[in-house]
Amino acid sequence: MTAMRIPFLDLAKANAPLLPELEEAAARVIRSGRYLNGPETAALESEMARLCGRKGAVATSNGLDALRLIVRSWIDMGKLRAGDEVIVPANTYIASVLPLTEFGLRPVAVDPCVETLNLDEAGIRKALTRNTKAVMLVHLYGTPSTTAAFAAQLRAEGLLVIEDCAQAIGASVAGKPVGGWGDAAAFSFYPTKNIGALGDAGAVISDDEELLAYVRALANYGSDRRYHNITQGYNCRMDEIQAAMLRVKLRHLGLETARRQSLAQTYSEIIRHPEISLPARIDEATQVWHQYPVLCRRRNELRRYLEQKGVGTDVHYPTPFYTQPCYRGQLSGSWPVTDRICHEIVSLPIGSITAAEAEETAHLINQF
Ligand SMILES: *Cc1c(COP(=O)(O)O)cnc(C)c1O
Repeated sequence: MTAMRIPFLDLAKANAPLLPELEEAAARVIRSGRYLNGPETAALESEMARLCGRKGAVATSNGLDALRLIVRSWIDMGKLRAGDEVIVPANTYIASVLPLTEFGLRPVAVDPCVETLNLDEAGIRKALTRNTKAVMLVHLYGTPSTTAAFAAQLRAEGLLVIEDCAQAIGASVAGKPVGGWGDAAAFSFYPTKNIGALGDAGAVISDDEELLAYVRALANYGSDRRYHNITQGYNCRMDEIQAAMLRVKLRHLGLETARRQSLAQTYSEIIRHPEISLPARIDEATQVWHQYPVLCRRRNELRRYLEQKGVGTDVHYPTPFYTQPCYRGQLSGSWPVTDRICHEIVSLPIGSITAAEAEETAHLINQF
């Protein structure tokens, strides 16, 4: 592949403005001699809980483990059992679903709304059955799925609500931040996420102190105190050095969100093409634009065209989880909206570009 003038994502460039602060924080951890379960991790947990307006957080090894720890805890606590149905968006990344099937839960895939690319209330309502025990709200691409009020309704009806906030840190609806809506939320700090570690990291957030204590034990060999194991656990802890990196980045979350919003605004103001539909902007919502995904029937041609012009793009995601070899034939139903999205979706660069580069990309797209 030719070198891109405007690469889809250049993480070194994205992190460069924070280099002095990151290096100072890394040096602080290296000198401290404390590399796990230390003060940086504890401080990050408080900061994440505060961000979501929740009682507590447990820092984890990654976002997938954050989801697994929540699901396994609910299984162990008797709130979920094998065979229970859990509603998930059909177009989510496979990491939302792996923690369900790992514990014998049945993912019920629901087609999203084609404008928002996320589940809406009507779609979820239609999919509820007597066997539905939980709903997973995945705030894909940084756009909140439904509302805090709707999540509260589901909970009042006896359903567990789990939020997959991997792509949506800082997003909100009507002033209610995602991660504060459900019974528990999982965040990912994978390096490409809006707040990315310099490696893997994640977090569980909740108001349920019993759940948080159990998650904390599970993530630490099942140990609730030293050499005392209440369950057969894992090692799913966050490194102290990653917590320190993330605390630096979290201080700049407002700026990072504003930067992405301004690039998204540029795209939505300039791009006018009869064959390209832009992602919906939602009233009342703060969207944080983890991706800027557009739909185009000639998606692959559009990608090739942009690549020739030196602009990198990516596809999130080319294949739905239910057609992956590991799940093929295991879910019943049809998902025409998701099938269409997978063929037509393409993410424009947003993670590390300048305003001028967004303008140039938008004008190039208009000439496609
Ligand atoms: C990134 C992501 C995950 C998994 O997070 P990791 O930290 O990569 O394990 C889960 N769900 C969604 C929607 C994601 O985008």
